Amino acid sequence: MVATPVKQKYDIKDISLAPQGRQRIEWAAREMPVLKQIRERFAQEKPFAGIRLVACCHVTTETANLAIALHAGGADSLLIASNPLSTQDDVAACLVADYGIPVYAIKGEDNETYHRHVQIALDHRPNIIIDDGSDVVATLVQERQHQLSDIIGTTEETTTGIVRLRAMFNDGVLTFPAMNVNDADTKHFYDNRYGTGQSTLDGIIRATNILLAGKTIVVAGYGWCGKGVAMRAKGMGADVIVTEISPVPAIEAAMDGFRVMPMAEAAQQGDIFITVTGNKHVIRPEHFAVMKDGAIVCNSGHFDIEIDLKSLKEQAKEVKEVRNFTEQYILPNGKSIIVIGEGRLVNLAAAEGHPSAVMDMSFANQALACEHLVKNKGQLEPGMHSIPVEVDQEIARLKLQAMGIAIDSLTPEQVEYINSWASGT
Ligand code: NAD
Ligand code: SAH
Repeated sequence: MVATPVKQKYDIKDISLAPQGRQRIEWAAREMPVLKQIRERFAQEKPFAGIRLVACCHVTTETANLAIALHAGGADSLLIASNPLSTQDDVAACLVADYGIPVYAIKGEDNETYHRHVQIALDHRPNIIIDDGSDVVATLVQERQHQLSDIIGTTEETTTGIVRLRAMFNDGVLTFPAMNVNDADTKHFYDNRYGTGQSTLDGIIRATNILLAGKTIVVAGYGWCGKGVAMRAKGMGADVIVTEISPVPAIEAAMDGFRVMPMAEAAQQGDIFITVTGNKHVIRPEHFAVMKDGAIVCNSGHFDIEIDLKSLKEQAKEVKEVRNFTEQYILPNGKSIIVIGEGRLVNLAAAEGHPSAVMDMSFANQALACEHLVKNKGQLEPGMHSIPVEVDQEIARLKLQAMGIAIDSLTPEQVEYINSWASGT
């Protein structure tokens, strides 16, 4: 990799952290072979020459590898954090110092800074926005209608961002194409399930150093993330309870061997609570009131509203930090509740987010979704677009190859059989 001099503005913690960031970014790259191939092709073909791109993602070693691939493809890009707590400051430093990519992200930044960075990102006048949770796109459509004509399209990383984009489309304000990265098979099957499954427990363990075996863990939500968290918690020897509001995933959880019950009941039994619903106030004051003394609560879903921390704060006699990213709320009845990562994503606040090997596929989708937008500029209808099936399949094929796994091919006889209806019993 050839270093380019710093040429633009940035807002990061400490540029002298760059060498450590570089080492960690290169370590992550070892597990990102699909993105590497894409980066090498982009470096030849320069699909983003002349394109201004803004990425609002967790500033991690994995995101750095995506940013480097887009940079190699000629993008004039700018990176901001998609969460105030998930930034890895050494990574931000390396991207600025070694690649000249302007980064606006500081671990622990306050909400005002977070929103100021969103405005700076929009000042870059992006043609493409890579969003994670849809904060940049929501601000664009609310406050910067005069910039809509610059936009080629957006790509969205996560489930809640997709929910927000659909709502924008239904309200008639999403007037450009949005690539649905989350729903690609090579994204949510692996990232939301195995990524969240492993990294959520990693965050809880790093923050608390507690033993999971023998604990009762309550997982709220049995979607892609919930399935992963519940599966991995069971594997660590925990007794897992699932709560749901939807009947189909509730049956699935029961048939996967988990106890299923309402939160009001689970609240009395759990030692650790993990929300992964994308919803609001899933754990509320009536639940805190019946929890065991010392119960641990955290969120790996979306934003910091799955747990009603505002009410918990109002109720608490005292709040004190007991370990890094870990606070103890002492209630008037003398019991305490432990909250990790201020109720924000525990895997990114207290650990490093998903491992690189799953982000390889998520970010291969992001890179190819951006390329798809540029190649089809002006041709795509406004609204949601799936990642083309061929792209999803190709990412899976490359990943399998990198994993050293071979699979069978259909024989001509099988091709004929599955395409015919004539032969039956
Ligand atoms: P999903 O739609 O597959 O699953 C969400 C599940 O939560 C659904 O089954 C839904 O019925 C259930 N639910 C909704 N409200 C509930 C409530 N009040 N109580 C119990 N269950 C409830 O979504 P997903 O892909 O699993 O994503 C969940 C959230 O996690 C989203 O906000 C997404 O953006 C986020 N996410 C986080 C990470 C991470 O790195 N931590 C990774 C991927 C996705
Ligand atoms: N902005 C919201 C978004 C939810 S984040 C918030 O911060 O609350 C969920 C997304 O984070 C997932 O879809 C996943 O792809 C992404 N993610 C998880 N680990 C990551 C990592 N190591 N690097 C970059 N992004 C990561």
